[in-house]
Amino acid sequence: MPQPRKIAAGNWKMHGLGESLSEARALAAAHTAPGVDILLCPPATLLSRLSEALAGSAVATGGQDCHTAAKGAHTGDIAAAMLADAGARYVILGHSERRADHGETSAQVAAKAQAAHAAGLIAIICLGETLSERDAGQTLEVVGAQLSQSLPGGADAANTVIAYEPVWAIGTGHTPGLEQIAEVHGFLRAGLPDPAIPLLYGGSVNAGNAAAIFAISDVDGALVGGASLKAADFSPVVTALEKSLR
Ligand code: PEP
Repeated sequence: MPQPRKIAAGNWKMHGLGESLSEARALAAAHTAPGVDILLCPPATLLSRLSEALAGSAVATGGQDCHTAAKGAHTGDIAAAMLADAGARYVILGHSERRADHGETSAQVAAKAQAAHAAGLIAIICLGETLSERDAGQTLEVVGAQLSQSLPGGADAANTVIAYEPVWAIGTGHTPGLEQIAEVHGFLRAGLPDPAIPLLYGGSVNAGNAAAIFAISDVDGALVGGASLKAADFSPVVTALEKSLR
């Protein structure tokens, strides 16, 4: 049975100017033969430059969203093929900030993932419950529905990654208990069309808590926001993932 790939993914969100390229270069210099997959998802304005700066390194790049259509009259939007053309191998889809800020539904996320796959990109599909949903005991129901509705047909370990990101843990410094992460990841694994699809945890991962999170079974890596902006913060997270393999 093929094992899921281990992945350390950085989401720079709406952070980063040209000067941030040096952080990406420093990360790549610190992980020349990593043994895990590493990627950075910068804002679209940096994608080409970052991809060029990281060419030949072990660090891949990704976009943070794409449109459902291959091209057309959609001012301000980006097609999946454009991300690929700018050097991306991945695209984050359905991040809770996009679901909240732009009203993205799981059906739209599935359509975006289908467009990403058609362009040869690996879709990182995000899902997670709000605090009120967790408090109401609805976590598994919510993430189960998001999983089934956000995955397009044909999703497999070669083209899809799932990131479980409790909304209340993103950027807050609060993380679920380790047993809570284990419960959700075990539940999600059982619902995957291909059990080798990597399952990332996201939400306030940092150098201090990464090793404990990576020790949980069914956690195949992390999607990291704030702690991915500086190489000095992200590199220990990558190293913790590498060590979890030993
Ligand atoms: C994210 O942006 O997906 C995220 C998990 O952010 P942070 O690590 O800052 O909580």
